[in-house]
Amino acid sequence: MARYTGPSCRLCRRENMELFLKGDRCYTDKCAIKRRNYAPGQHGQGRSKNSAYGIQLREKQKVRRIYGILEKQFRGYFAEADRLKGVTGENLLSLLERRLDNVVYRLGFASSRSESRQLVRHGHFVLNGKKVNIPSIQTKIGDVIELREKSRKITAINDALDAVTRRGVPQWLELDRDACKGNLKALPIREDVTTPIQEQLVVELYSK
Ligand code: SF4
Repeated sequence: MARYTGPSCRLCRRENMELFLKGDRCYTDKCAIKRRNYAPGQHGQGRSKNSAYGIQLREKQKVRRIYGILEKQFRGYFAEADRLKGVTGENLLSLLERRLDNVVYRLGFASSRSESRQLVRHGHFVLNGKKVNIPSIQTKIGDVIELREKSRKITAINDALDAVTRRGVPQWLELDRDACKGNLKALPIREDVTTPIQEQLVVELYSK
């Protein structure tokens, strides 16, 4: 269960956009991309070539980094998206959105995906009544995600839930704040992913 452990802000600067990887800090003036809006590294402020391949590659890297997934696993998601009926790019986003760590984040239990991944890993949630600790579990319609009784006093979780009004809960999810539980009302559709992503570029890259 490998994951990227380097500096998060560097990834945003590389993709030249806010990926919101660090929770509350991303909404403050401390956000690195607001202060140093150029790519990291010695040649970060130099000229960059924008070949078709380069644009596709950057888009794929951006999507991977938003969801915190390494290349091998991301390829697996693409293969699955390609196998399913429908538009491959939309299938890919749907699979990524339905990861348990993303659902926990979207429901507002965490201020970032990396935080939600850690909460899941540490066993703070039950899925349909069973304790879970695998962030990549694919959720489905009707699944109920609930914060365990013993975890309900954790300040970071309560702060994140209080702040969820800022981000809002997507229409495919339903949150019961008082009961500390949420459920999947529907499958996410393309319009539910509001982050500017051009998934077609990812499909083009992997279809070469
Ligand atoms: Fe990205 Fe957040 Fe760092 Fe800003 S603070 S650069 S949005 S991770």
